[in-house]
Amino acid sequence: MKVTLENLTKIFPSRSKKEGKDVVAVNSFNIEIADGQLVGLLGPSGCGKSTMLNLLSGLQKPTSGKILFDDDDVTTLPPENRGVGLVFQSYALYPHLTVRQNITFPLENRKGKDKLTKDEMNAMALEAAKLVQIDNLMDRKPGELSGGQQQRVAIARAIVKKPRILLLDEPLSNLDARLRLQTREEIRRIQRSTGITTVFVTHDQEEAMSISDSIIVMKDGILQQVGKPQEVYDEPVNLFVAKFLGTPPINTFDGFVKDGGLYIGEEKVLDVPHAENCAVTVAVRPEGFEINPHGAFSCHVDRVEVMGRDVSIVSTHECSHNPLVRSIISSENAQEVTGEWVKFDLKKNKTYIFNKETEERIFF
Ligand code: ADP
Ligand code: MG
Repeated sequence: MKVTLENLTKIFPSRSKKEGKDVVAVNSFNIEIADGQLVGLLGPSGCGKSTMLNLLSGLQKPTSGKILFDDDDVTTLPPENRGVGLVFQSYALYPHLTVRQNITFPLENRKGKDKLTKDEMNAMALEAAKLVQIDNLMDRKPGELSGGQQQRVAIARAIVKKPRILLLDEPLSNLDARLRLQTREEIRRIQRSTGITTVFVTHDQEEAMSISDSIIVMKDGILQQVGKPQEVYDEPVNLFVAKFLGTPPINTFDGFVKDGGLYIGEEKVLDVPHAENCAVTVAVRPEGFEINPHGAFSCHVDRVEVMGRDVSIVSTHECSHNPLVRSIISSENAQEVTGEWVKFDLKKNKTYIFNKETEERIFF
């Protein structure tokens, strides 16, 4: 099912004069999520991700704007009539019920012609449980399960009703690192096999990038960029997006454009014939540095960290915004780093410049 948001806005009024301004948790969002996609909704804590999911599920009403599921306007529809499956960070399972009873719970209160028999409910629960591979645990109570298993029960409970859309709010945050990795792949697999349009909320860019068909990056309630993970990584529209994606993070420097040249400090590091003279922030991905004894950009070597196939040259530069500049170089090329200084060329497709004031991308 396709999901369309039109000028969707949610404002939380301030409770008192002392509290100050209203909070615009979601600010005029316009977006279309294609049928069957897994979309990663990504942004720092407090940017409005949970509010967005609550609007989609119907748990909260928007201040203005519209939500369409295919061509149905669901903006004022109560949650139970929207056909959404919800999974939260806290699994919210019923501790006194078995796995089977937890999964059938959303099916119990169907009335009239939709009413299901016990056998029908159990069959549906088993099908959902098989999909998340917990069908051997049906008689256990949540307290007898690991965190990862509990989260699978929560997912089974969300998909047992065959929802039109699946919404997951930071579903992996309570799991340890190894389980997080495993479970995120599991979610991808379940999503592929059911084909349910899914919105997956996370503040972890790596998590979003690794499993999403497309990502939506938001900040302070405002949509920043939408696209395939690689496209957004390669072509960030502003400094915020450039900094939010990538590990190690992008390196940023004070710089300026003068007469078609990009300067960091005294050094002219790139030709930028189409950019106008102005003060800029220069951002370089760690993989954007190339060692060259005659390179244009000189950094002071702090240390060389061996990472196996690659090495990370950790250096300093007086124009850097961060204490350390991190470059990633293939280990053969790093042999040349012996002295106190290292010289780099900057790769044009891994270097970005942003207006110093607006932080918008400047194309060169
Ligand atoms: P995220 O999930 O990205 O961390 P939230 O959607 O929870 O962000 O919150 C977005 C903003 O809206 C925050 O500033 C938060 O304090 C505010 N907010 C969320 N829910 C409420 C509420 N019920 N009442 C008032 N403010 C809220
Ligand atoms: Mg949240």
